[in-house]
Amino acid sequence: MKRFKLLLLFAGLTLLLNCSKDEDSQPQVEQETDKSANLLATGDSAHDLLANTNFSNLLIEIGYVEGFQPSTTTMANFEDFLRDRTFKENITVQYLELPSPGKETLTLQEIADLETENRTAYNEGNTLAVYIYFADAPADGDDEEQNLVTLGSVYRNTSMVIYERTVRAIANRSALITISDVEEAVLSHEFGHLFGLVNLGSPMVALHEDAASTNHCDVAGCLMQAEIEFGGGLMGILESRALAGKGAAVPSLDAACLADLQANGGR
Ligand SMILES: [Zn+2]
Ligand SMILES: [Zn+2]
Repeated sequence: MKRFKLLLLFAGLTLLLNCSKDEDSQPQVEQETDKSANLLATGDSAHDLLANTNFSNLLIEIGYVEGFQPSTTTMANFEDFLRDRTFKENITVQYLELPSPGKETLTLQEIADLETENRTAYNEGNTLAVYIYFADAPADGDDEEQNLVTLGSVYRNTSMVIYERTVRAIANRSALITISDVEEAVLSHEFGHLFGLVNLGSPMVALHEDAASTNHCDVAGCLMQAEIEFGGGLMGILESRALAGKGAAVPSLDAACLADLQANGGR
């Protein structure tokens, strides 16, 4: 959450900069894209992502470093997840191939800066836009020896990063789990945060926030458990599900999380 707060500060600064620019009395030749609605805090667009009150269309822009695109299987399953949870009538995915930023690790601040440079999809009319960056470098602060590696993060209301190099590295260590399983679990978990889970914009119907981990669910087996964000935890969950012969390796949302989404306009 410390990083999240830093990013909030960053988002605030960006807004300030934009405001001072607007105060210039010079008439602008070209209308600049209004990005303000996409520079809010994580969870602020939970209702807008779930319900059709303000937006009936969802546009997902996948910005991926060359060679780090998610698989078509992953994206098909992820789109099903979005259709199952929201009332959006049209869900479109567009891809943006990007050069490597050439970093050994990435801080959330650097990821937010890259988004500012590269993102092309912003809210327009009744289309709500989300940007997902597939990075070719691990998160700053990963501890590989302890297997405490971060697989994904959200940092604003419509922004998220998947650490694709790390996702592939941990998936390749297991004979039971595919890259697609890991991609799907992380994408869905992080999108759960954009949906306002847990207690992050979608109020809790019943108390189920993990006392040890803010904005995560305390129900065993739920997609919103904190462990899913980290390599060791996620692989443990996926492998035990695979060994138990569960239909899908990727866990789904439990009843408490589903109730929160339904109460905030979702399915
Ligand atoms: Zn999480
Ligand atoms: Zn849950």
